Amino acid sequence: MPVSCIIISVAFPIKICAVCSEEFELKPEKPGFANRCPACSEPENADPETKGAVDADERKALNEARRQAMRDLLYRKDS
Ligand SMILES: [Zn+2]
Repeated sequence: MPVSCIIISVAFPIKICAVCSEEFELKPEKPGFANRCPACSEPENADPETKGAVDADERKALNEARRQAMRDLLYRKDS
C-alpha cells in the first residue's frame, strides 16, 4: 500500500460528537467546537442564550428609539 494512502486515512482523528454522539472527522479547518460534529457546530445551535441576549439588546434599542420619537412628537406639539 502506498504511504500516501495511509497518511490520508489517518490524517484526521475520529471524534465522537458531545451533542449527538455521531462520529466525525476532526479537521483543522472545522469551525466551532472540537468536540462537536459540523452539524452541531452550526451557529444557530451553538449558543441560543447568546442569541437571545442580542435580541433583547435590539429590542431595548428599538424601545429607546421609539421613546425618543414620542418625546420629539410631544415636544413639537407643545411648542
Ligand atoms: Zn453532533
